[in-house]
Amino acid sequence: MDSPLFRKSVSLKKFNTFGIDSVAEAFLEIGASYQLLQLSSTIDYPRPWRVLGGGSNLLLAELTAGTVLKNSIKGISLLEENENSVVVRVGSGENWHAFVMFAVGRGWAGIENLALIPGTVGAAPIQNIGAYGVEVKDAIKEVELWLFNENRFETISNVDCKFDYRDSIFKSELKGRFFICAVTFQLSKIPKFHMEYGAIKEELELMKCSVSLSSIAQAVMNIRRSKLPDPNILGNAGSFFKNPSISAGLFAELKKRFPLLPGYPGTINSSIKVSAAWLIEQCGWKGFKAEHVGVHDKQALVLVNFGDGTGVEIWQLSETILLSVQEKFGILLEREVQVW
Ligand code: FAD
Ligand code: NAP
Repeated sequence: MDSPLFRKSVSLKKFNTFGIDSVAEAFLEIGASYQLLQLSSTIDYPRPWRVLGGGSNLLLAELTAGTVLKNSIKGISLLEENENSVVVRVGSGENWHAFVMFAVGRGWAGIENLALIPGTVGAAPIQNIGAYGVEVKDAIKEVELWLFNENRFETISNVDCKFDYRDSIFKSELKGRFFICAVTFQLSKIPKFHMEYGAIKEELELMKCSVSLSSIAQAVMNIRRSKLPDPNILGNAGSFFKNPSISAGLFAELKKRFPLLPGYPGTINSSIKVSAAWLIEQCGWKGFKAEHVGVHDKQALVLVNFGDGTGVEIWQLSETILLSVQEKFGILLEREVQVW
């Protein structure tokens, strides 16, 4: 059994898309699930365990206490195939976008609208990643994980993952207690195209190509590239806040004062999902620039690091934004980004 290489005081700057220079107390790269078996018997590794994927949904402080487990578990295997669908098991350290393109290239449908979302396959179930009218929950069959305190592997079925809007059991009951090792997906060979959302149809028209899995993935990539900052150029972690769900009553009240307020059906009975980007923009934050950090000028939900920003600066900016939205609209935004 190979033991992973243990290092102390490792800079995480290149391991998080905000580009924050945090120092990890200890760092281990996990390349295979069996390496997790050895962790609990090694008392030298400082606790807590912190699982790191692509670092694209993280806000880090100057020091990251504990042991960072960088996930590098790879491998894609086809478990079942018939004329309608495939079941495919994917190592959690695989790159999400590469897996989407792998599926699209084979004519396997279900995740093409989720092209170009950064990060790893293992993080996808955690916040039930979603974009352009599709959520990953609809393609997940089961999730295999290691439970740190119980020293055992467990497989959780789709229904037991308790998926919700940008939420799952991994962000609540199981938070901080597990390492996702593999995700098994069920994908269809009979595509059902999702084009009703945003600018997909218009983009396909501009592209002048017929509707297919690959043209939809390409349309999504084109739209995303035109709106979202590339973390390699401008540090960011995508949407910093979740779109809030409010009651139909509050929505109706707000609509009287703010007739342009966009609302969509929410996941809870008769709740309304409101665009957090719109709320933030109305408070005047879009394009805001402080010395090191700011708000993206094309998408107000995205906080950015101009280079030397710290986690504390980004946190403070997010707090000021949150308070101003609460004051103007009476809505309390929730951070989507995970704070270590
Ligand atoms: P990390 O940031 O490394 O980790 C996030 C959290 O998950 C941490 O708490 C970490 O401990 C935990 N974690 C990660 N992997 C594991 C594992 N294997 N086991 C246990 N815990 C784990 N999100 C969307 O939903 N939709 C989008 O359209 C979208 N667009 C984005 C665009 C940009 C430009 C950026 C920067 C981000 C975007 N995101 C989006 C957010 C982000 O890409 C996703 O949340 C992604 O799934 C995070 O993956 P990651 O591997 O980088 O996770
Ligand atoms: P957009 O198309 O400008 O839409 C603004 C908001 O309105 C989105 O957040 C979206 O909610 C909602 N919306 C728009 N059309 C909708 C419809 N037909 N039905 C229900 N809700 C609708 O958004 P954008 O910023 O350019 O992002 C496009 C997609 O990529 C969105 O799905 C967004 O979630 C996703 N994205 C996510 C992140 C992240 O880090 N989480 C970062 C970038 C982009 P939803 O967000 O619920 O879809």
